[in-house]
Amino acid sequence: MVGTHFSRKNLDFTLFDVLEIELLAQFDYFNAHDSETFSMVLDAATDIAEKIMKPAFVDSDRNQPELLDGQVKVHQGVHDYYKAFSEIGLLSAPFSFDYGGQQLPKVVAAAAEFICGGAHNSFVMYSDLTKGAANLILTFGSDEQKEQFARKMLSGEWTGTMCLTETQAGSSLSDVATTATPQPDGTYRIKGQKIFISAGDHDLTDNIIHLVLARIDGAPKGTKGISLFIVPKNRLNTEGGHLVSNDVVSIGIYHKMGQKATPAMHLEFGGQNDCVGYLLGEANRGLPQMFLMMNGARLGVGMGGIHIASAAYYASLQYATERPQGRRLNEKNALGEPTTIVHHPDVRRMLLQQKAIVEGGLCLILMCYKFLDIERAEQDPSVKQYYNDLLELLTPVAKTFGAEMGMVATNQGLQVLGGYGYTEDFILEQLARDVRIMSLYEGTTGIQAQAVLGRQIPRNGGKAIDLWLTEVRKDIEKAQNDDVLQTYATLLETNIAQWHKTTQHLLSLAAKGDAEIFLADATLYLELFGILNVAWIWLKQGIAAQKTLSIARLSEDALQFYQSKVHTMRYYYHYELPKAQSLTQRLTDDTNLTLFDNDFEPLC
Ligand SMILES: Cc1cc2nc3c(=O)[nH]c(=O)nc-3n(C[C@H](O)[C@H](O)[C@H](O)COP(=O)(O)OP(=O)(O)OC[C@H]3O[C@@H](n4cnc5c(N)ncnc54)[C@H](O)[C@@H]3O)c2cc1C
Repeated sequence: MVGTHFSRKNLDFTLFDVLEIELLAQFDYFNAHDSETFSMVLDAATDIAEKIMKPAFVDSDRNQPELLDGQVKVHQGVHDYYKAFSEIGLLSAPFSFDYGGQQLPKVVAAAAEFICGGAHNSFVMYSDLTKGAANLILTFGSDEQKEQFARKMLSGEWTGTMCLTETQAGSSLSDVATTATPQPDGTYRIKGQKIFISAGDHDLTDNIIHLVLARIDGAPKGTKGISLFIVPKNRLNTEGGHLVSNDVVSIGIYHKMGQKATPAMHLEFGGQNDCVGYLLGEANRGLPQMFLMMNGARLGVGMGGIHIASAAYYASLQYATERPQGRRLNEKNALGEPTTIVHHPDVRRMLLQQKAIVEGGLCLILMCYKFLDIERAEQDPSVKQYYNDLLELLTPVAKTFGAEMGMVATNQGLQVLGGYGYTEDFILEQLARDVRIMSLYEGTTGIQAQAVLGRQIPRNGGKAIDLWLTEVRKDIEKAQNDDVLQTYATLLETNIAQWHKTTQHLLSLAAKGDAEIFLADATLYLELFGILNVAWIWLKQGIAAQKTLSIARLSEDALQFYQSKVHTMRYYYHYELPKAQSLTQRLTDDTNLTLFDNDFEPLC
């Protein structure tokens, strides 16, 4: 991959002008930092992205991991990345000083991830999963577990995974069947198979710490009987403290469409009845505990869609400025010099859509990470709860917008290249394959939609909606005072009023007690809510851009940047926001055509 894959100017604008993340340093927990240390982290990430990740992007796709004699071997680039990423401290950076971290705000770590992920979206899977698993151990583990596992994971010595999925338990985790049998020494014997486990085996480190959902013998059926276990690939033997095999066997490797540098494994635990697991946290509380990791991972997946879309945008923008084809629509001379395709309005529309999705999605996701930081560092329980409630509502929205619209944007990038986009000569083909997973793992879009409409919207009498409206209205009010933004503030207000009516209509269906009717179009509702959220985020960006445009004497470059922000905001409001109308129309139309009916099957 050559050329830029992200805009540092835009990232700085998002972090400092829009989200004002330097204010996080006022919290005791983050007081070792300031905007200078934040920038240093982003520089370090850029260095790894450019020197180690990008050069391996294509080769590691063409030379996939192999399962040979029960052991997976991964591309040399993964080794180089993991070594550099952990040695430079990026792996442990957001963790506490007690575990070798730097107490760096998660929003900065996420921005570093955006930089690295755009350079190689598959490599960051290893570090993301390890961070998520270590975070769970640090949150719910005993002191001994923290020392024995989390410390080694954060130093880069060992990696981590999440093992939820089984053949019959994908979206429906209540059907997890892996068992855990209590032993006299307080440990458990684990037995079962897990599928699709990302980074589930590799030759990167000499141990892998799996976090496994399993059912303790005799536990209740359903979600209330699921517990979480630490299950190392190799365990310490009782005598010398050497690592010995823990009966975790790689029985298959999936051949995937994209993200090929990360193996997705079929693992067997306890085939020889010799797999030891250590209960993490409370028995039968495994699923809510695991959700802590999954919520972080969901934001990471949304970011995955956006950093891939960013790489696609800059690759297609470069192509569009170099590729001559055809003449301007107003050109009368059919034999004149061809123009480059960036001059065709239809190509510009595709590029503007990509830019609006990338910069809007990035800001939404980084805002969620900032809320996570405030929730972490704030002392006042009511403020903590406020951000927690907002995050419960916004996490599935950010995940889904990043995933679904990241696919749309990446696909547009491919379209900009015409036929060449479909070939291996350009990276769009690989990016389009890589991004496809985002709407599937960490809960499919359909499952995120049910979480939003079925749980978060009605929760506590609609409390989360009220908090969300409070936040959005703060920006609408600010924008009403600006001549350029006024129109857009009013447009957002009008669309939100319609959304609110639609929500009340759907909740009235819920009150009738038929969940299938209520949730039949939950995915469309989530799409609508995602469009509105990013319209809000674009208004935020418009406010920050207008502020600079009105007070500062700017260089030509800076002027172009801030004006382009306002232009892209206008694009979003004139091209993307109107899509809310058709979704609202569908969601308030009571004709149900998708419900299963015993007497008539239209799917034939
Ligand atoms: C490359 C890759 C990496 C992965 N990595 C991991 C990992 O590291 N760890 C891990 O544990 N898992 C991992 N997974 C598994 C992933 O999380 C699951 O594939 C995903 O949760 C969907 O489950 P499923 O494949 O069984 O699909 P299913 O659950 O069978 O879903 C099929 C379709 O039906 C829909 N559907 C299912 N149930 C409902 C419902 N109740 N209401 C409405 N629609 C529904 C879904 O939205 C989907 O469109 C990975 C998967 C892949 C492909």
